[in-house]
Amino acid sequence: QIPVIAIDGPTASGKGTVAAIVAEKLGFHYLDSGALYRLVALASEKQAIDPKNAPKLGVLAQNLQISFEKGQIILNGEVVTDVIRTESIGLKASAIAIYPEVRQALVGLQHRFRQIPGLVADGRDMASVIFPDAVLKVFLTATATARAERRYKQLIAKGIPAKLGDLLQDLQERDARDSSRGTAPLLVADGAKVLETSDLSIEQAVKTVLDWYQS
Ligand code: C5P
Repeated sequence: QIPVIAIDGPTASGKGTVAAIVAEKLGFHYLDSGALYRLVALASEKQAIDPKNAPKLGVLAQNLQISFEKGQIILNGEVVTDVIRTESIGLKASAIAIYPEVRQALVGLQHRFRQIPGLVADGRDMASVIFPDAVLKVFLTATATARAERRYKQLIAKGIPAKLGDLLQDLQERDARDSSRGTAPLLVADGAKVLETSDLSIEQAVKTVLDWYQS
């Protein structure tokens, strides 16, 4: 079996950054599954699909024309790498991610990322639903305040205006929805190791995951 390291956790926990570095260090492929939900959200906006029309969203997700090339994400021929990172797309992504039709449509696409020599996959249900046979399952988290501060710094560094209070509120809203939904809620999967990163640097978090994988 091709090894998978599954890294799940709440929004802005730093799991994307940690997962990407772990993948690079091991020479593994990397799946940012949140990007797929964000792409469905963006595509639905472009096609003016009712965000409550689950069957239509499912069909849309099934037929997404996307590719990942040299760090860029392309949707229907258009580079959308940065566009999908906004808070508004994040909130829309979490709203459409509640529908089983959407989640089911993205399963095959996620499985196709599992390629030799291995995969690091980050998301909400990597360990529980998509790769239940992952060799290492990590639940990476941090307090809501620490996460809001990280997101704030990221946005400001990119020159995107942000308000700390609004970010905290947005991520608490998203946490609540991601944790309480009926399908694939955000939870610590069976056998997952919890990594609390509020007081850890990125390097320390990466090292912990690599030590767990190699031990
Ligand atoms: O991780 P990211 O913030 O990019 O994900 C955006 C949204 O997509 C999340 O708030 C969550 O609702 C949804 N998501 C999900 N399952 C995943 C990854 C993301 O439901 N595996």
